[in-house]
Amino acid sequence: MTTPEEAWRSSYRHPGPWDMDFPPMSLVDLFEESARRCGDKPLLDFMGRHYSYAETLDGANRVACGLRKLGYGEGDRIGLFLPNVPHYVAAYYGILKLGATVVNFSPLYTVDELAHQVEDSGTRALFTISAKALLPTALKVLDASKLDRLVVGSVAGALPTTKSIFYRLFRGSEVAKRPDDPRIMAFSKLIENDGACRAPSLDPETSLALIQYTGGTTGTPKGAMLTHQNLSANARQVARLDPQLGAAVDRVLGVLPMFHVFANTCVLNRTVATGGEIVMLPRFNAAQALSAIERTKVTALPGVPTMYQALLDNPKLASTDFSSLRVCISGGAPLAAELKTKFQNATGATLIEGYGLSESSGVVSSNPYEAEGKAGTIGQPIAGTRVKLVDKADPHKSVPESEPGEIVVSGPQIMKGYWNRPEADAAVFLDEGGGHRWLRTGDVGTIDEDGFIRIVDRLKDMIAVGGFKVFPSQLESVLYRHPAVKEALVIGIPDDYHGEMPRAFVTLNEGESVSGGELLEWLNPQLGKHERCDKVVIREELPKTMIGKLSRKDLVKEIEAENQSG
Ligand code: AMP
Repeated sequence: MTTPEEAWRSSYRHPGPWDMDFPPMSLVDLFEESARRCGDKPLLDFMGRHYSYAETLDGANRVACGLRKLGYGEGDRIGLFLPNVPHYVAAYYGILKLGATVVNFSPLYTVDELAHQVEDSGTRALFTISAKALLPTALKVLDASKLDRLVVGSVAGALPTTKSIFYRLFRGSEVAKRPDDPRIMAFSKLIENDGACRAPSLDPETSLALIQYTGGTTGTPKGAMLTHQNLSANARQVARLDPQLGAAVDRVLGVLPMFHVFANTCVLNRTVATGGEIVMLPRFNAAQALSAIERTKVTALPGVPTMYQALLDNPKLASTDFSSLRVCISGGAPLAAELKTKFQNATGATLIEGYGLSESSGVVSSNPYEAEGKAGTIGQPIAGTRVKLVDKADPHKSVPESEPGEIVVSGPQIMKGYWNRPEADAAVFLDEGGGHRWLRTGDVGTIDEDGFIRIVDRLKDMIAVGGFKVFPSQLESVLYRHPAVKEALVIGIPDDYHGEMPRAFVTLNEGESVSGGELLEWLNPQLGKHERCDKVVIREELPKTMIGKLSRKDLVKEIEAENQSG
């Protein structure tokens, strides 16, 4: 006879039923409940310095209070242009406690990308740190946009004044000439208060916690609006995947960039919800990650496939003690079955694959933690989540699960919509009446008899470079700025390490004689690190559709045929 307790636990071996309820909860309540329970237990380990739940809550309260004093409040959008540093967590919860909305910006953004998204979202204040790769970009955006404040933290975690930041890092540069700019404030100055501000009450189902920029299915950057409930539900849905939920407390290696939803849910919100600890590294570095796993006895490691490959390739792997590591969760891009096997054999840890997107707060499906999963699939829908397949040409028609169809999803984690883009909402949601709707993912899959989903194709023009998403139309628009370029197409080329790499194909205007190499040298410095092309190929002509539009799809087919024949 199984006891009710055993039955309850064993239900976690499989994803819960699709109609499982996740009562509305704000991220603030989720954080404060854990802070009450965990108090002095560490929430963050950053380069060996520990920040407890209580300290982090105090930091968040001070951020909220400081922002309120500056005149910010409910409904304002406040941006994070930060790598993985403790400021991220304090600022994130501080902004939420204020009743404002966090806007996540990739620390790899160029000035143009950051400026565009700051404008689009109406971000009023931006947090950054005094790192050479970030502050100059943030300052240029401060001058070029409606941003009215920059809050600058110190890389070292010390508490410098705004002036000392500038003089130390940028002596003699443009930046050093403006230490008295009233719009620039040190993080340490912002949090100089007792944190005693009253938090507004939030409706978790309507209040926006996060605007997450993504190319979606079209490539034009747009902000996915994620409510408190979307994110808190996704954290709880993911937590339920763990058969030892409540029994084991995880120490999670935080190497995924915090600005991405995968990290937001699987590193930050899930860990906070379960009272765990995040061992945070400023950025991914295989050798540092391996030492951190051994030094801090990491139990869970969410990452993208290129990270697992890099760990596997690192000479330190053989001598690293992985005995604490319970589970590694891969997402963001396909995990090759061979990589999964090699990584598991080399470390003894389990590596499972999941899937999700910005519009779904991070996670839609996953292979099980401890039970037998299926390599090469993205697992089964997580609790509270429904997935079905629809006709690629007519999304209102369902297709049998054994046949490829566009994956559509419904669940409490699905975004409210895109920020200020009703036309994009109309294209991405399928209304089923009665308030029910499905999110179109732009991914094509099949579902087997056990409910495991396999991705077989992609409808959207997106290139997955590791876990980073590159949108061809954005790179093409840069190429068109070159006077010699007549037509441009960018497609993903298979790459052993990154999965895919962007490659540009162009035709030239009459009489132009620039070389592919010269164009590449001109192009890449204008792109974010992960957008950089491996080559620019000059062609006499590029494939076009029947109505004369350039066709990426046909170019992909041409390149595949060329590769097969030679
Ligand atoms: P993002 O919004 O940046 O998280 O990108 C979401 C997209 O990443 C999805 O729509 C998929 O195309 C891709 N993706 C995420 N996880 C996987 C996976 N496990 N396998 C294949 N593609 C994935």
